[in-house]
Amino acid sequence: MRITFYGNPKKIAEEIKKIDPKLILIHKNREFLVKNFKAGYVYNIFPRLENIKGVKKIEAKNHELLPLVYSYKYRFKYPINPLKKIIIAGPCVIDDWDIFIKTGFELKKLGVDAIRAPLFKPRSSPYGWEGFGKKGISKLKEARKKLKVPFVMEVMDYRVIDKLTGVCDIIQIGARNMKNYVLLKEAAASGLPVLLKRQPKSNLREFLYSAEYILKYGAKKIILCERGDNLSDGIASINLEIIKRIKKELKIPIIADLSHSAKDRKKVINFAAKTAGISDGVMVETSITPEKSLIDTKQIIDIETFKKVMNIIR
Ligand code: PEP
Ligand code: MN
Repeated sequence: MRITFYGNPKKIAEEIKKIDPKLILIHKNREFLVKNFKAGYVYNIFPRLENIKGVKKIEAKNHELLPLVYSYKYRFKYPINPLKKIIIAGPCVIDDWDIFIKTGFELKKLGVDAIRAPLFKPRSSPYGWEGFGKKGISKLKEARKKLKVPFVMEVMDYRVIDKLTGVCDIIQIGARNMKNYVLLKEAAASGLPVLLKRQPKSNLREFLYSAEYILKYGAKKIILCERGDNLSDGIASINLEIIKRIKKELKIPIIADLSHSAKDRKKVINFAAKTAGISDGVMVETSITPEKSLIDTKQIIDIETFKKVMNIIR
């Protein structure tokens, strides 16, 4: 960490030491190189350091702020293997059990790594259908036994997490909840792998702070997901820069959500092509009958289009 300042170095050093006497300060020109602090927790003293008269700027390195994210090296293979391109597909939400199972079998045949199996759906309008919810848990358990493919499910309420054994294999934290720190902690503590989506308009740092929560609170397996900057306004967008930076700087897998970024099935192939070379895989809403879906109908692709996506990705 570096602190740039103006004024009397001795006085400023004294003030810094008052905040944390263990800090080692190496003085050079108008700058202190700061050592001997606990990575991550250094965040805690920023507000007081910034408040010292004469302190101009405090700069910390990524690994000093996000020690777990930046030291993450775990290469897992189960329930999905990010060492080959990940493909997660399935409905926006389960709205018909028969269609869900049939779609699941088609996708399994084509070699997906995991199936989207959401019982809970965040809706912009309080009048929107929110999925089968807890009532769907026993049916989903049966479906999972039949399909024998890992299930990914968004969770919004931490109180359902302990009911998910045998129901889902990966917990998805949706874009809206990227900063729901209570939920992040509980999802992390569940022991299940966590798929974290970037909240629209949030920057890389904020995204990674949420990932740091997940690692700090116990998750061993984490996958990041870029889904664009717009929620439900129909505007297509995906942040390729964020994917590239994560690929370059971290060992945490990052996939692209083709559906919530493209927002239109006509654009999904194009988004697959844009992300294929840079991400660790994709998530894409797929159904045997997209037109019958109750939610996100316009963006869900059919099995034929899904095959094209597979060909582009793998
Ligand atoms: C989803 O993937 O099911 C979803 C609701 O997307 P997002 O959280 O990215 O809006
Ligand atoms: Mn959707």
